[in-house]
Amino acid sequence: MREMLCSKDSYLKEFDASIVKNYGQEVVLDQTAFYYTSGGQPNDTGKLVAEGKEYPVVDVYRQKETGEIRHKLKEEMPSHIHAVHGVIDWKRRYGHMRHHTALHVLSRVVLDAYNALVTGSQIYEERARMDFSLAELNDEQVKFMEEKANQAIAKGFETAVHFIAREEALQNPELIRTQINLVPESVKTIRCIEIKGFDLQACGGTHVKNTKEIGSIKITNVESKGQGKRRVELVAENP
Ligand SMILES: [Zn+2]
Repeated sequence: MREMLCSKDSYLKEFDASIVKNYGQEVVLDQTAFYYTSGGQPNDTGKLVAEGKEYPVVDVYRQKETGEIRHKLKEEMPSHIHAVHGVIDWKRRYGHMRHHTALHVLSRVVLDAYNALVTGSQIYEERARMDFSLAELNDEQVKFMEEKANQAIAKGFETAVHFIAREEALQNPELIRTQINLVPESVKTIRCIEIKGFDLQACGGTHVKNTKEIGSIKITNVESKGQGKRRVELVAENP
């Protein structure tokens, strides 16, 4: 099994690894801090360094059939190389972490205020969006959401990662309120992100350690995505 280092430590920017499979322009490592595209969070980019030469990593994805985490390179990795040093593009990743955590805060605010669940989300380096099962969303509500989220962020809540057995997670009322049922049945251990004293959700992504790192959020757009579905876009500013 390939170990996902970023799953336990989202602040790991560099790491050493061995190549376990070399497909030329794509390699599989024994462990990696590169996040692969999943759960609305884009892959990391960065580089693998070997024998003093840099090999830019342009994509990281999970190959469906094999489950391999493939690091796609700009150019071929020579077959004689076995050890590499990985470096994450931190500016991009940290943008993902801040916006990802901002979405957790927003989703909790919307759940508490309107009892609305999340139906989808997409994170970018400098913005993010989230879809809610909401029939309407007026300007006053948007202003309220933004204020509540910023109040929570300013409190400086610490975050923590937990690995919880599926049966236990399915009995946790906090988790049931978020869409834990969407986690495939084959997954026996569920990774959860706690914003201590504020929120708990099943999630596989990378998050900041303290909500203060988000800065503050600004809701930049709200639009209807069909009946009973509203999309909210935000930017995390002033980190
Ligand atoms: Zn998350």
